[in-house]
Amino acid sequence: MHVVIIGGGIMGASTAWWLTRRPDPPGVTVVEPDPALKRSATMLSAGGIRQQFSKPDNVRASAFGWWFLSRARELLGEDVGLRRRGYLILAGPAEADALARAVAMQRAEGAATELLTPGAIAARFPWLSVAGVAAGAIGRDEGWFDPAALHRGLKRGAQAAGARWIRAEASGFEVEAGRIGAVLLADGGRLHCDAAVNAAGPRAGQVAAWAGIALPVRPDIRTVFHLTAPDSAAIAAAAPLIVDPAGVWVRPEGAGFIAGAASARQPDDPWSLPVDWNLFEARIWPVLARRVPAFERLRVAGAWAGPYDWNEVDQDGILGADPACPNLFHITGFSGHGLQHAPAAGRALAAMILPGTDPGAPELAGLDIARLRAGSARAETAII
Ligand SMILES: Cc1cc2nc3c(=O)[nH]c(=O)nc-3n(C[C@H](O)[C@H](O)[C@H](O)COP(=O)(O)OP(=O)(O)OC[C@H]3O[C@@H](n4cnc5c(N)ncnc54)[C@H](O)[C@@H]3O)c2cc1C
Repeated sequence: MHVVIIGGGIMGASTAWWLTRRPDPPGVTVVEPDPALKRSATMLSAGGIRQQFSKPDNVRASAFGWWFLSRARELLGEDVGLRRRGYLILAGPAEADALARAVAMQRAEGAATELLTPGAIAARFPWLSVAGVAAGAIGRDEGWFDPAALHRGLKRGAQAAGARWIRAEASGFEVEAGRIGAVLLADGGRLHCDAAVNAAGPRAGQVAAWAGIALPVRPDIRTVFHLTAPDSAAIAAAAPLIVDPAGVWVRPEGAGFIAGAASARQPDDPWSLPVDWNLFEARIWPVLARRVPAFERLRVAGAWAGPYDWNEVDQDGILGADPACPNLFHITGFSGHGLQHAPAAGRALAAMILPGTDPGAPELAGLDIARLRAGSARAETAII
């Protein structure tokens, strides 16, 4: 059996790693035009992991992600720089009930998320203003890690077990009797396959279209600002990632901070990855200066932009075989939470490609594409 994976970002690398863990692994070829991943979501991500989602599949995927990252040294031979700091999600009066419901669901799934009153938040984080805050929540197995180290470990491990990475761009499929027979390359090459994996991240919609499939995934460009603030070293040393009810997030990064928020409009040319410089002054700074008085004196040290693999229907991963083309497997659409879910999604997908070989794979049936076509999709609301 031969599996061709289109895209060598974190989803392609994780799928390759898990496929090559099987006792009788298939041949695996990963097609990736940009080996340094300079323009890929994986390397442009903020590297966060949280247990706080609104859907049980995502809480399970995060629990598995934390387990995997905690053992990266033994599993991958890599220190992925995992920091346990928590995500402090703040809710105003309008969001407080939904936050409490989400925390109850997360706890039922085994996550150690705590619901906090404004008084408890103020006592624990005295440098933070709770003005306008009705409730907050923070988890235990949450924080951030180094995306490049996770990717390196997965890729190196898969290669050591026989997976082949080729520097090329896929450009089409050869479809025979409703199945993918080969992946075509822009340089004229052709790769025979028994199964094809669509791990093209924000370009996954284009790849699916080669098989005549409409997949609602497009790039959604996000800007991340690198910030410094005088006299904030103690905050940087101890703060969790904070999500303000206004939709702005901030977390420590070294001696400074990184922060972001969704832009009001998408650029005309998303692939040029333009930084939305206006976002800091117009949205991020006013919110952060109100929330943390020491952030009144924040300064922008730099910024970058990267593409979310945005699922337009319900902002959640799309995982598994496509009923319209049963040997085409999607692993995409994670809408800003794909890095932390890559270990779980890659394992679950490998188990779908090789059914019956991995009974311990995470149960992520809720990410099946059928939900989108049946009209039964329910949005993941904890999108940051
Ligand atoms: C600014 C930002 C912050 C983020 N923060 C977080 C976070 O804190 N936590 C979290 O969990 N997630 C986060 N994410 C989301 C996460 O980075 C993505 O969900 C994840 O990296 C997606 O991985 P991927 O492999 O699907 O996509 P990518 O990393 O984009 O990889 C897809 C690959 O496919 C290749 N490709 C495309 N077309 C073709 C083709 N025709 N032929 C061959 N190869 C092709 C591309 O070159 C690319 O390398 C963030 C994303 C961004 C942009």
